[in-house]
Amino acid sequence: MMANGRVADWLDRLPSVRGRYAFDVDLSRTVWFRAGGRADVVFRPADIDDLAHFLAVRPADLPVTVVGLGSNLLVRDGGVEGVVVRLRQGFRDMNVRWEGERALVEVGAGALDMNVARYCRDQGAGGLAFLSGIPGTIGGALRMNAGAYGSEMSDVVVEARALDAAGSLHVLGPDEMGLSYRHSSVPGDWIFVSAVLAGRREEPAQIAGQMETINAEREASQPIRARTGGSTFTNPAGHSAWELIDEAGCRGLSRGSARISEQHCNFIVNTGGATASDIEGLGEEVRRRVEEKTGLSLDWEIRRIGRHRRWPPNEGGGEDEA
Ligand SMILES: Cc1cc2nc3c(=O)[nH]c(=O)nc-3n(C[C@H](O)[C@H](O)[C@H](O)COP(=O)(O)OP(=O)(O)OC[C@H]3O[C@@H](n4cnc5c(N)ncnc54)[C@H](O)[C@@H]3O)c2cc1C
Repeated sequence: MMANGRVADWLDRLPSVRGRYAFDVDLSRTVWFRAGGRADVVFRPADIDDLAHFLAVRPADLPVTVVGLGSNLLVRDGGVEGVVVRLRQGFRDMNVRWEGERALVEVGAGALDMNVARYCRDQGAGGLAFLSGIPGTIGGALRMNAGAYGSEMSDVVVEARALDAAGSLHVLGPDEMGLSYRHSSVPGDWIFVSAVLAGRREEPAQIAGQMETINAEREASQPIRARTGGSTFTNPAGHSAWELIDEAGCRGLSRGSARISEQHCNFIVNTGGATASDIEGLGEEVRRRVEEKTGLSLDWEIRRIGRHRRWPPNEGGGEDEA
């Protein structure tokens, strides 16, 4: 591989690890929006110790960003500087232990929410079916206090484990995580590595029924097969973001190939070939129109990372992340 300038800056300075580095990785291939730029380096640590070692000995000026499944994420077109950490194998274990009727489900932060929901169903651990409606990882769900259908992470988290920027492990109870609506107050540079979630004994068939209902409702109300980042904006207190967007006449509004979904107008959809700049620009236009019409200011729920401009211009090449 011919390293671009930025990648070459890091190449000789990356710590030796047991996991895998990939260079100049096209993130648009894996994030839900299917848009945006490249990462200088993607690091998939082998396990928690490997990640802790990497964080402890990395060069102090090396930026580190963790990305889950990219289902609530916009990667800007100029790409992400430094190392993007992705938790895959080594971070997907699931275990349940029972305290009477109470299930304590220990899950790795790289586990997919849907797989955790299926695992809990099979184990007869109820109360976690809502995870089947959230298309991300447990790490992303902890960071976003993800929730759906009347439950959210703050209702079920018993504890979470996270590495700080220096690689030290912290065990956090729910109070220390500061979970509120789509927010955790855990420092932004900490990386969740696992969690213990509480469930209760329930018949697998009953849990399966709840998951089917959730799935049917999602199919009917959200563009779940589209290239999207989920809800674009959080709901302002006492209001629904989608209603405000509708009221401001933004349903179906488009910029380039980015479009406000007709089905659920708090979703932006990449209809094919949208740039991150199209998507972000459309979001900003919606914010402007909503404020003009209603006086209310919408806050982005989607996390935006990276640089605005493509640098250097994408000339192809580099590794793609499978
Ligand atoms: C079709 C669709 C429907 C959706 N429906 C819902 C819904 O009903 N309810 C809901 O809450 N959300 C919903 N979402 C949004 C999204 O699925 C959730 O926010 C999800 O929790 C994000 O997880 P992720 O792994 O994809 O995180 P990413 O999108 O990759 O990242 C989101 C944020 O989490 C951080 N992060 C990721 N992993 C870690 C980690 N291990 N440690 C620390 N920080 C981390 C990232 O740095 C980033 O800031 C939907 C999205 C889509 C596309």
